[in-house]
Amino acid sequence: MFKKYDFTQKFPNQTLKAGECIFQEGDKGEFAYIIDEGEVEISTTSVNNERIILNILKTGDLFGELALVDGSPRSASAYAKTNVALTIVTSEQVKTRIEDADPILKLLLMVVMKYFRSETGRLRSGKEVLDQLTLENTKKDYEDKISHAIDLIRLESELRNAFDRNELIPFYQPIIDLKTNLIVGFEVLLRWFSPTKGNVSPGIFIPLAESTSLIIPIGEWLLKQGLKAIEEIKNKTNYDIFLSINVAEKQISYADFLTSFKSRINASSVKPQQIKLEILERSLFEGENAFSLVNQCRDFGLPLVIDDFGTGYANLSYLKNFKFDTMKIDQSFVKDLENSDKDLIICRTLIDLSLGLNMTTVAEGIENKLQLDILRSLGCNYGQGYFFSPALPLEKAIDLIQKQEINRL
Ligand code: C2E
Ligand code: CA
Ligand code: CA
Repeated sequence: MFKKYDFTQKFPNQTLKAGECIFQEGDKGEFAYIIDEGEVEISTTSVNNERIILNILKTGDLFGELALVDGSPRSASAYAKTNVALTIVTSEQVKTRIEDADPILKLLLMVVMKYFRSETGRLRSGKEVLDQLTLENTKKDYEDKISHAIDLIRLESELRNAFDRNELIPFYQPIIDLKTNLIVGFEVLLRWFSPTKGNVSPGIFIPLAESTSLIIPIGEWLLKQGLKAIEEIKNKTNYDIFLSINVAEKQISYADFLTSFKSRINASSVKPQQIKLEILERSLFEGENAFSLVNQCRDFGLPLVIDDFGTGYANLSYLKNFKFDTMKIDQSFVKDLENSDKDLIICRTLIDLSLGLNMTTVAEGIENKLQLDILRSLGCNYGQGYFFSPALPLEKAIDLIQKQEINRL
């Protein structure tokens, strides 16, 4: 009964005899199958080595597609229950379609996949019996996941409307020179005040904007607002400050990114040196043209900041290959700095590393005086965090410069 069928030789349509194995749990998934005729049994083995039948599939059913979609090994085995005729679907056929699919569709697909996989795993562990209660819980779990995906779809359309209705507002978090205690710049952090949802975290809506490309018009609008803000600050306070703007991977890999940024900056009174681009380490890893684009930005005079360094791949070759001006020390290394020797060593090493490479350092997430004192003693150049101020609307940020309250700390 357990002879395994060799599909690689015979394709695209095949007939199998009852009992023949189509694939086994743990196999690499190379094909998906459509049943043209006959029945296929999908099963898994419990921890006690018992075979658990998950499903009997019939003519017209598709199976084996899960492993093609996410590249993981087969989570169940498939046997011909009767003589069967199959149409074979290659991984290329599935993969290219998924790659081209709408991001929300991809998300839904992943949700469904996760559900299937966790169900097979649960049955295999043999810990749960498939009684009425389990079925109901499973159904609820599935519905919860689908409704989460639907919430995201809704949020996406609301985000589009929010942008049109001016519900997105740039906030400005001061960056302090740790030698002079003066505000020298601000990081622009986007806020979404929704009349129905309240304050939506950028941790939620930024990835959504990125996955739908809405981040491109949002990013351009943000730069426009940022340039106006620098001009207004200059007019009202006579300070020439810089703005640190977060740039998503989607933006860097967008062909017109630099042209558009250049022309907006050239049309203003702001110098390129006043707009710092904060780029996440992982964006460089994933973006295809990142290298040339990032260096072109720098050639134009835009300083580059490597954001959250050390939290991703901590790939030192980025520091070697890209010309960064500033390293941003992630708040995860700062938040326990006063209590943790390890954090202290990490911060010291990062500061020494950037000093040695002629870069400046900004520590983010400074929440108390102790953290500030330690960072200052380590030679960190700039600081940012709630100890100084959270991100503020422009008028309040201007007030803060006018008073330079920070000077008294
Ligand atoms: P990020 O670039 O790492 O930004 C710093 C985050 O730390 C901000 O969260 C800021 O409010 C928060 N923060 C600042 N000081 C402190 C502190 O003392 N303690 C703690 N615990 N947190 C502090 P926020 O505003 O929620 O932003 C989250 C992320 O969203 C940002 O992380 C950034 O990656 C992204 N983001 C925000 N605005 C934009 C944007 O306009 N464009 C893009 N591409 N991403 C943005
Ligand atoms: Ca940032
Ligand atoms: Ca950061």
